[in-house]
Amino acid sequence: MLLALVAVGSSSWAEVSREEAARAEALAQDQKVMSTAKKDSEIMANLTHLSDMIGPRLTGSAALKRANDWTAAKMKSYGLSNVDLEGWTIPLGWERGTATARIIEPDNGRSLSLASLGWTPGTKGKIEADVVILNAKNSKELMQYRGKLKDAVILRGAPAVVRPVNEPLPAPGATTDKKPEPGKEPEKTAPPMRPNYAEMMAFRRELMEFLRTEGAAVLLQDAAKPLNLLTTTGGWQGTDRANAPEPLPSAYMAHEHYALLHRLASRPGAPKTRIAIEITNKLLPGPVAVYNTVGEIRGSEKPDEFVILGAHLDSWDLAQGTTDNGTGTSVVLEAARILARSDVKPRRTIRFVLFTGEEQGLYGSRAYVQKHKEELPRISMCLVHDTGTGKVIGIGLQGREIVKPLLEPELASLKDLGFKDVNLRSMGGSDHASFEKEGVPGFAVQQEMSEYRFTHHSQADTLDKAHEADLTQGALVMAVTALRVANMPNLLPRDKPVRGRGE
Ligand SMILES: [Zn+2]
Repeated sequence: MLLALVAVGSSSWAEVSREEAARAEALAQDQKVMSTAKKDSEIMANLTHLSDMIGPRLTGSAALKRANDWTAAKMKSYGLSNVDLEGWTIPLGWERGTATARIIEPDNGRSLSLASLGWTPGTKGKIEADVVILNAKNSKELMQYRGKLKDAVILRGAPAVVRPVNEPLPAPGATTDKKPEPGKEPEKTAPPMRPNYAEMMAFRRELMEFLRTEGAAVLLQDAAKPLNLLTTTGGWQGTDRANAPEPLPSAYMAHEHYALLHRLASRPGAPKTRIAIEITNKLLPGPVAVYNTVGEIRGSEKPDEFVILGAHLDSWDLAQGTTDNGTGTSVVLEAARILARSDVKPRRTIRFVLFTGEEQGLYGSRAYVQKHKEELPRISMCLVHDTGTGKVIGIGLQGREIVKPLLEPELASLKDLGFKDVNLRSMGGSDHASFEKEGVPGFAVQQEMSEYRFTHHSQADTLDKAHEADLTQGALVMAVTALRVANMPNLLPRDKPVRGRGE
């Protein structure tokens, strides 16, 4: 401000000074946001309510609807405009029952720990069945098992190699979209041996169909986590469930128990290994109504252009859904609170969206981009928080090189918070990908991993894993980034090199 008043001389001086004044004003706004964050934080109270009072929020469940209503009320209490629950539907609902098993042959007294995959049915009561290892990796290998799987419990291959808990993970972002230095030939390296995703999915469908027609009883997979942790995943297939054949009961078994069954079933001389197993789940006839919670701070100059901050409100149901993704939800709510109470008046509209159906395949964010198709060219960016409780250390631009020099200088204030850099890395598997797919810049914040590799989808995804200081830092990164992007002279550019396309 001060500089603008001094700058009345030559036009170039005036221009430089205007730019400096704008920079100083933007930094002052960042400071306003940061000081608001220190006052009356609700981040842990919100995460506690979501985890302890509402509990796990499975897509299509009554608990998720309660979470929708509660987050909408929160948004209203912060003074957001146009708070709404935007409805979409899933073809059928699902309720987890119980899953119990024990080894009966050899008679070693072991009970086994397991968790159903979502949207799979139960067994027909308690059954006793032979354990058969299935090692097929393609259609040809599958044919060897014809006629050998009737009423069997199937182990899907060898146990996983599980990294010990005290072994550090490789640095985050091992995949980079690195450009060769100018004037240098790109290094020639062998292409990575990555399985083709489409082929993998096609084989998985073929395998499931084969197991069903062969009359297998249950499919077991290794939970592949240390210290008896379970995991879950899964979802409905397609939209036409009325005519679809009932899927096979399927479950993840704790790694230690899976490895034991595998050792027993591969004993030389082929003695039988038998277990008793009972799974009770309910598939609920649909369509079932599901909602995304949305609210916004209207832009002061360009209200019809948008910046979106997002996280998914739904969770898996083995625990409390705290780190996946109660943390992202409370970070987005806190960013909304901070921005709404900071008196910063963003030029573009900042919209806060809590997506649902993320865990089954990004369905809620896909419903969102479909419903808001007409707005997509006017959405500057969607930024999501979805890797647990860890501090935010970067933003990956999904290979959008052109955005880097524009965004980098805007985030200078975040350096003091431990935010390291804006880089070109890509991440898939969360709601930003639904925006990227439509050509809208869609990014996910990069976070310190904390205990995410253990808590993710497991029965240990509980409130005690949350770190308040890191969540507050996340909310500040989200709030400042949204404000800066909302105030930029233009929308973020859409141009993107094809090779960097991260979907
Ligand atoms: Zn998640």
